Amino acid sequence: MLNVVLFGPPGAGKGTQSERLIEKYDLVHLSTGDIFRSNIKGETELGKLAKSYMDKGQLVPDSVTIDMLRSEVLKYSNPKGFIFDGFPRTNAQANALDEFLSTQNTAITLMLALEVEEEELKTRLLKRAEVSGRADDADPAIIENRIRVYNNETAPVKDYYLQQGKFISIDGIGSIDDITTRLFSAIDSRN
Ligand code: ADP
Repeated sequence: MLNVVLFGPPGAGKGTQSERLIEKYDLVHLSTGDIFRSNIKGETELGKLAKSYMDKGQLVPDSVTIDMLRSEVLKYSNPKGFIFDGFPRTNAQANALDEFLSTQNTAITLMLALEVEEEELKTRLLKRAEVSGRADDADPAIIENRIRVYNNETAPVKDYYLQQGKFISIDGIGSIDDITTRLFSAIDSRN
C-alpha cells in the first residue's frame, strides 16, 4: 500500500493537492476536517462536539479524532492506500495511527510536508473564506489561533516522521501544477 500523510499548516494546499494525488495513485482521501464538516452538516453528535472546537480554531480532542479516523479507514476493503489529510495533527495521533495501521498489516509510507510561510497562509485563508463559507476562515483572530495551534501542537509531528526516515519537505509556494509535480516526484522517488 501507499499511505501518505499530506502535512502542512492551514491553507498550505493539502485539500487541493490531495485531489491530484488520489487520482494519480488511486488512493482513498481521508480528510479529518472534511469528515467533521460533513458531521456538522448532518447534525450528528460528533458534529456538534467537533463544531464547538473548530469554530474557535482549536483541535478536536485526540480520542474523538482517533476513533473517528479508525472507523473511516475500516470502511474500505483492499484499498491501494490512503492520503491522510489533516491527520495526524498531534504526536498522540501519530502514535495511534502507527499502532492502528500495524493491526491492519500496513504502515505510513511517507510524510509530505507542504511548507508555506505565515503571511501567505493568512492571505490564502481569507481569500478561501469568500468561497468556502467556513467561519474559521473568515475571522483573522481565529486564523491566528489555528496557526498558533499548528506551530505548538502540530508542527512537532514532523519530527516524529523525521525520526522514522519518512519525512519529506515540499516547497508549497508556486503554481498548483508546480507543487503537484514536486509531490509526484517525491512519491515516485520513494515508492
Ligand atoms: P485547515 O487545515 O485548513 O485548518 P481542516 O479542514 O484540516 O482545515 O481542519 C479544520 C478544523 O478541523 C481544525 O481547525 C480542527 O478544529 C479540526 N480538525 C481537523 N483535523 C483534526 C485533527 N486531526 N485533530 C483535531 N482536530 C482536527
